[in-house]
This record gives sequence, C-alpha cells and structure tokens, in this order.
Amino acid sequence: MKKIPPQKRKNIYENVNKQFNKASDLMKLDANIKKILNTTLNEITVHFPVRMDNDQIEIFTGYRVQHNNVLGPFKGGLRYHQSVNIDEVRALASWMTIKCAIADIPFGGAKGGIKFNPSKYSKNELERVTRRFTFALGSTIGPEYDIPAPDVNTSPQIMAWILDTYIQMMPPLERKRCLHVVTGKPVEAGGSLGRNKATGQGVVFTIEEWAKENKFDLKKSTYIVQGFGNVGSWTSRLMKSCGSKLTAAEDVSGAITNPKGIDPDDLFAYAQKKNGLIAGYPKADAIDKEVFLRTKADIFIPAALENQITSETAPLLNVKLVAEGANGPTDPEGDMILKKRGIHVIPDVLCNSGGAIVSYFEWLQNKRSEFWELEEVDSKLRKKIITAYYKVKNKAKELKTDWRTAAYIVALSRLEIVYKDRGIFP
Ligand code: NAD
Repeated sequence: MKKIPPQKRKNIYENVNKQFNKASDLMKLDANIKKILNTTLNEITVHFPVRMDNDQIEIFTGYRVQHNNVLGPFKGGLRYHQSVNIDEVRALASWMTIKCAIADIPFGGAKGGIKFNPSKYSKNELERVTRRFTFALGSTIGPEYDIPAPDVNTSPQIMAWILDTYIQMMPPLERKRCLHVVTGKPVEAGGSLGRNKATGQGVVFTIEEWAKENKFDLKKSTYIVQGFGNVGSWTSRLMKSCGSKLTAAEDVSGAITNPKGIDPDDLFAYAQKKNGLIAGYPKADAIDKEVFLRTKADIFIPAALENQITSETAPLLNVKLVAEGANGPTDPEGDMILKKRGIHVIPDVLCNSGGAIVSYFEWLQNKRSEFWELEEVDSKLRKKIITAYYKVKNKAKELKTDWRTAAYIVALSRLEIVYKDRGIFP
C-alpha cells in the first residue's frame, strides 16, 4: 500500500488568511474593516525560567495572541505542545474571533500556549510551568479583559492553577471578583456543569441536526474519530447515545479498528489507565494511519490537530460527512477535494463552538454567583449552537457557497456592523 508522504509542516495562519480572503471577497467586506480584521491586535511572547525537579533551570517560551475584542473580552484556549509557534497561535486566535461572532456570544478572539511537550514533565513541574507562565502574562489576561480556557494538553486542573496564581497577584479585596479569569475550571473550583463535555456535546448537536435535515438515520450509522482527548472522547461517548457505532479511532499513539464496533466508554476507561492513549486496546486491531483514513464510515470526526485533511489525505476518506471537532483540521486544498467528492463539512468555527459557548455560560455564572443545573446548560448550549447552525446553512444557500465561507461571512458581517457603528478612534 502507498504510504502517505510525511506531512509537510504547513503554516495554518496562511490557511486562515485564504479562508478569510475568500469570504471577505465574496461578501465585499469594507476594505478598511478588512485591514483591521486581517491583523491581530496584540501579540505577547514571554520567556520564563522554571526550576525542574532535578534542580536545574529550564527556559520556556509562551504566547498569548489577542486577535480582536470589538465584541467583548478576548477569549480562547491555552495549548501546551511542542509545535506551538506564533503563527499557529495567530491562526487559532483569529478562529476564536470568528467562532464567538457566529455563536453570538459577547467575546472576541485570543489563543495562547507554551512550546513544550508536557508529557515529558512531572505533575509538579507542570504546575510550576503553568504558574510561572501566568505570572509572566500578568495583567495581559483578566476576567473582564482576556479569559483563557483549556485546549490541547491543558485541563481543568491547569485552569485551577492559573486561577490560583492570578488571584495571588491581585489585592485581597479584588480576589473574590476574579473567579472568571479562566473558564473550563473544575466544577468545585467555580467551573460549570457540562463545560468538560461541551465541545463534544456541541459537535454531537450539530451532527444530529445535519442527520435530521438529511433524513439520515444515526442509529444505523458508523463513525471514525481522530484524537481521543477531551473533544474526541466526549464526542464519541455522546455519539453512543445517538446509536451510532464507532468503528475506528486514532490518536498520537496509533490507530485501531473493529468493524463490529468499539464501545467508546470502554475505550475511554482503557485510555484512562494508559496516560490517555488508545494503542494496545485489546478489543480492536491495530492499523496504520492510511488504513484508518480509508475506513468506510458515514462520519469522520477529526478531533486532534490541524492540517489533517489535505491534498494527500482528502482523497482517501470514505465518508459522507466531516464534523470538525478540531480547529483547522482541513486545509484549503483538502476542502476543495472534499467538495468535489460531495463530502459535506460542518466547519470547525461552527461545529466545535460548544466549548466557547459553555465557557461563556461559566463566565456568566461566576459573575452572577450562580450555579446552573446541567439540563439548563445543555439546553442553552443546544439553542445557541443550532441557531448558529441555521445562520450558517442559510447563508451558504443564499450565496451558493460552502459552509466554511458562509460561516466566515456570518461572523464578518456582524463584526463589520459593529465597526461601522462605533467608528475608528480618534
Ligand atoms: P486533548 O489534548 O485533550 O486531545 C488531543 C488528542 O489528539 C489526543 O488524543 C492526542 O493523542 C491526539 N493527537 C495528537 N497528535 C495527533 C496526531 N498526530 N495524530 C492523531 N492524533 C493526535 O485536546 P482537545 O482539547 O481534545 O483538543 C483537540 C482539538 O479540538 C484541537 O484542535 C483543539 O484546538 C480543538 N478544540 C478544543 C476545545 C476544548 O474545549 N478542549 C474546544 C474547541 C476546539
């Protein structure tokens, strides 16, 4: 079997610019507003020392890019990964602006991260790296200004450390008013019920809506998932309750298949015991990446990293729908191939917006000292994401364009109106 060529390191910020230009040209976005939205507002790079368990000092590099805040405080996750770089963070921050505008939540877009491989560090080292990064960011984040959340390799525990460090830097009287400096916190530390599963829940709500519209019986359907972390595992476990069958999965440790079906809860329990990894799962067979991508199924849920569906891999897919749990999993060439092959895409800025939406709910609950029941969180999430779904769908129909371009146009139109109303200072 022909091997997939090793992945070229593509710059995802170029992908964002291509998607942005396609949408802004089609909608004839005001040229001046285009200049503003094409630029990130603030880019913070910090280098900071951390003492390791062996008493040596290591220097880390972290980023926070604040793309736009015309709709509200900057909002976006923090990623811990060896591939983090300024262009990646710029791209992810830009997508957050678009995502929050489509979801109609009063936030702008930001993203951040530290360039390192957290699996090589002890829990104590991770805590010190996180706290020192928070200290280095200082007042560039804040509950009414820029609110981080979890992303790849970050967790509710990491958000709790950020909160705790941030409040130590505040005067005592301010501290109680800072709970909403991060979202995605553990529930006991001020998090919201339903936030941990929110991105996966949102992905499933959009898939259900798509299935309903296309008279597609999810109970008889199959799906494959790439990435079995927060988004991939939650999406898979929630798809189980729709009656859909998981037949193959892939993560950083490898890929597995079982045509008779893999129980996502059982796989999750297995992965929990193996540092979150799925390789070696005894009730499935190991397969290589290409066999995984060629697996015949109804739905493919990419929920790992960006640039996974490209000119090399899009021709291999044997599915009807791609529901983008990850940010930026499809590059512009991959998009064109999927379109030609009649594979529908629910784009990331819509499909995975459940995390941002429930982060907004968490932020609101903290500000109001409220605590919502899970049913309330879920039903409000469903309402918001389905409203966004139809805005995107209707715009795509109106302009006879793909859903990704339509999603951008929904967001850019909203941002354009606000800039026109407010004008440019001075
Ligand atoms: P995570 O760290 O919990 O999980 C990442 C998963 O991807 C892991 O299972 C890992 O093994 C897998 N992975 C990493 N490299 C891979 C590779 N080369 N091939 C196959 N699998 C690989 O991260 P997450 O929070 O689940 O985020 C996953 C994606 O979803 C990212 O694109 C992230 O930006 C996006 N996202 C996350 C949230 C959220 O709330 N966490 C919200 C919106 C979008």
